[in-house]
Amino acid sequence: MGAWLVLAVGDDRSHGGNDGYDDEPSQHYSWDSTVPNHANMQVGDVIALWDKKALLGVSVIEEIAREQAEKDVYTCPHCGKASFKPRKTLTPEYLCFDCKAEFDTPVTRRRPVTTYRSRHDAAWTDMAGLLPGSVLRSLCDKPKSQNSLRPLQWDRLREAIEATGESTVRIVAAAHKV
Ligand SMILES: [Zn+2]
Repeated sequence: MGAWLVLAVGDDRSHGGNDGYDDEPSQHYSWDSTVPNHANMQVGDVIALWDKKALLGVSVIEEIAREQAEKDVYTCPHCGKASFKPRKTLTPEYLCFDCKAEFDTPVTRRRPVTTYRSRHDAAWTDMAGLLPGSVLRSLCDKPKSQNSLRPLQWDRLREAIEATGESTVRIVAAAHKV
């Protein structure tokens, strides 16, 4: 059974390169084809949402809606990469983490993307704060990954959840129904 640790916070998930997503952690999750692993999440997979600090909750993906869309993608005018963030007080406003350039206006490009939205409200189990981010990272196939969608082993996540006294029965039952 596939399982994913997915980052579900508005502000932290939007970075210099995109405008963020519309999320409701207990119901649905949105991502698009600019994100690594975008095509690998499947109906029936376990989805564990977190906010970088701690677990929010766990569920099973019931449905994934795919659409074609266009999206503004912003890149550094010097190196063409998307790894920059606005600065609150310094000018120029943007600093590129890749090439260290400072600039006021990123390059904007419209590009076609596939958008995905999973629905997972039926089996949603609120587990806010149950496991800290450090434990969640250590359960991932690649603990040092920075991706929004990180594969992990369901058996290991399940063990960690059950070690706190929380039940996973509802999630296991839902996964078998899909
Ligand atoms: Zn750059």
